[in-house]
Formats: sequence, structure tokens, C-alpha cells
Amino acid sequence: MSRPTGSAAEAAVRPGIERLASLIAEARSVVALTGAGISVPSGIPDFRSPGTGLWEKVDPMEVAHIDVFRRSPQRFWHFYGERFASLGSREPNDAHRALVELEGMGRVDAVITQNIDMLHRKAGTRELVEVHGSIARAVCLECGGSAPADEVRERLAASDDALPRCECGAVLKPDVVLFGEFLPVHAMERAQELCAGADVLLCVGSSLEVYPVAGLPLLTRDHGGAVAIITAGPTPLDGLASVRLDGDVVDELTALVAVLRAHGADG
Ligand code: ZN
Repeated sequence: MSRPTGSAAEAAVRPGIERLASLIAEARSVVALTGAGISVPSGIPDFRSPGTGLWEKVDPMEVAHIDVFRRSPQRFWHFYGERFASLGSREPNDAHRALVELEGMGRVDAVITQNIDMLHRKAGTRELVEVHGSIARAVCLECGGSAPADEVRERLAASDDALPRCECGAVLKPDVVLFGEFLPVHAMERAQELCAGADVLLCVGSSLEVYPVAGLPLLTRDHGGAVAIITAGPTPLDGLASVRLDGDVVDELTALVAVLRAHGADG
């Protein structure tokens, strides 16, 4: 799904990108906040928008719920086993790579993501806060044990009752935040700290509708920072954004990197 990276000239630098690049160039701290939209070019559908893929066959609210895990673990794992395998085979795209590049240039301090797909990790982001967990592991709610995803798949395949189990015998749960669960306290505290200290919060591919993550841009603004939003379609926070771009996330971030590189060359 990757596409050729456009040159600065090709990106035909629009005023929004220029303004965003200036904000970032002048900032002491820039933090990115990403949502489902950044993984769409990797072939992972955003379940909030109608489309193809796994979410078409099941209502995620109905299956990816902690109550379903507790009451009907087989039904839960029938769904989640497929999702693990499907997400595990996806690769990062040029939008993920652009954020890695910005981190390498010292322009972005950290990435906070709502995505569980591990694509920021695979792309090479070093400072990463996964506020909804990730598919990298499964955990045991009984003894606190855990197992990496490959191992979970093996245990699932070898199991008599279609359930991956912990050594203690309890059923493992993917280390992702299910509907009906709270967000991990430590990750959320780290995200809040980063957003409060950011001069620029760069929101990418998030509809900014799901709380408490949707409250993070408000923290940045309340501490005097600027909020930039790059995502297709409206968000409830568009009114407070200093820069609002609604083009393709790959195109926008690629153009941003090109402009910041040019800035770097100038100064
Ligand atoms: Zn256990």
C-alpha cells in the first residue's frame, strides 16, 4: 500500500503545511496523537466508517467487550483470534514512517496512539504511548501473567476448547482496552503529562470523539500549546485547531517532513 514519496516541489506546499511546519520549527516540544485514520493506508479499516474487513461481519461493540470475554470467552476468542492474525500481518505506511523521521530529526518527542495494531512500533517510533494497549501480548486477569502474541496463537491452535490459557489455567485476554474497560492508568498519565507539556499537539487520523483521549488536545490548549489536526472529516475540536488539514494523512505528513527538511537546510 505504500506510494512514492513526493518531493517538496511535488507536494506543492500549501499554506496550511507551511504554517504547521513553522509552528513545529519554533516549538520546544511536539507530541503526536494518532488514531485509526493513520492505519487506513495500511489496509486496516476504521470501524467507525462503513467499509470492508472484519468489522463488517461483526459489531465490535458486541464482541470486543469485556462482558463478552467474561461470559462467552469462546465467542470472544473466535472473533479475536482472527483479528490478531489479520492485524499482525499488516505493515506500517509512509505516514507512520514520516512520524519516525520527525522523531529522528528531533521534531517530535513522542507518539501517543489509540491504535492497537503495533504499526508505530514496527515503523520504529521510539517514544510510544499506546493508550488502548496493543496486540503484542495477552494478559492473565487472575495471576497477572502474560504471553507474547505468537505464543497466544500457538496456545489457541493447540487448545481443546478454542481458548488460549495462562500457565495458571485462566483464559488469557488480549492486552488491549476492550469496550467496558478503563484505559491503563500509567499510559494515560504519561499521555496527559506529554500533552500538557507540548507546545504543539499534532493530531493525526483521529476523529477525537472517544474520551478520555479526546480530552488530550484540551490539555495542550489549556497549557498554552497549539493544536494541529490532520484527519479526513470533521472533529468536535476543529474550532480550537491552529492548523486544520483534511487531506490524505500520507500526503500531508510527507509534505510536512519535506518542508521541515527544507527549513533545516535553510537554518
Ligand atoms: Zn494466570
